[in-house]
Amino acid sequence: MVWAGWPAPGLWAAGCGLLCRVRRGLRGLLMTRSQRLLFRIGYSLYTRTWLGYLFYRQQLRRARNRYPKGHSKTQPRLFNGVKVLPIPVLSDNYSYLIIDTQAGLAVAVDPSDPRAVQVRRTQGALGVALGGRLLPLDHSGGNRDLSRRHRDCRVYGSPQDGIPYLTHPLCHQDVVSVGRLQIRALATPGHTQGHLVYLLDGEPYKGPSCLFSGDLLFLSGCGRTFEGTAETMLSSLDTVLGLGDDTLLWPGHEYAEENLGFAGVVEPENLARERKMQWVQRQRMERRSTCPSTLGEERSYNPFLRTHCLALQEALGPGPGPTADEGCSRAQLLEELRRLKDTHKSK
Ligand SMILES: [Zn+2]
Repeated sequence: MVWAGWPAPGLWAAGCGLLCRVRRGLRGLLMTRSQRLLFRIGYSLYTRTWLGYLFYRQQLRRARNRYPKGHSKTQPRLFNGVKVLPIPVLSDNYSYLIIDTQAGLAVAVDPSDPRAVQVRRTQGALGVALGGRLLPLDHSGGNRDLSRRHRDCRVYGSPQDGIPYLTHPLCHQDVVSVGRLQIRALATPGHTQGHLVYLLDGEPYKGPSCLFSGDLLFLSGCGRTFEGTAETMLSSLDTVLGLGDDTLLWPGHEYAEENLGFAGVVEPENLARERKMQWVQRQRMERRSTCPSTLGEERSYNPFLRTHCLALQEALGPGPGPTADEGCSRAQLLEELRRLKDTHKSK
């Protein structure tokens, strides 16, 4: 029975849904704002003060004690004389050495732990150019020690992110050449304002291109949006979505199992995710690294790269409207995914 003057049941439900969404949106907005403020304070302390440096040293010591051989077992990949060597550092970070074995030159990407990078700087790598990166010391804390030890070290990165010992600031589309290594910087703001990802061009060595994605993109996940909006992050994700399916993804963290668990909550029917999860669980049972995946694989299960999918829009948003403007925008969906991911507990 419906009383006169009361909205019809359908309208009533729609009204409640709208109210819930507004409340959820407001809560999300407040959380996001307070998270950003906290991040900015922590970021300044961490990157610009001795307190931050001491904290980083303590993190380093703890991780070395807890994982004397690194948090994961990694395998190098060799492509016609170009070797990519993932180095597990801290509790879940990856640094990378990219080595042109013929020229005896190496580039270190995200050298968080100078000792870990130094130990692996063998295999004929004589010179070092450093791809120091973005976010504070969990990605670039090794710059100081490596720069002091190797006077010819060059430290590349964004001038916007307070990278320690930066010698060569990079902009969007700048290319760093080291032997046969051609590495293009792509501006991908969102996690931080100056966030860069690095694309190693496969053409000079006739192998697959490699994307070193830092805190932008992980296996089945993406970084938090600390300095930017959902639109900014979406545009950064679209930048890497434009790369080829065969591009290998080398992320900045080992988050695969948790991320795929979350992807299963928002897209339970996704078989590609299910298959990848089974493989990842086998890898992690023996503490093996899960990188690299490919961008083609990521397109098939990474929800943060699938905001164009109708199934995801219908599951999380109001669904597509009669026109593009009336439906749930991809940026709104990305924001909702981020909110759900931040509150998701995998276990
Ligand atoms: Zn990180």
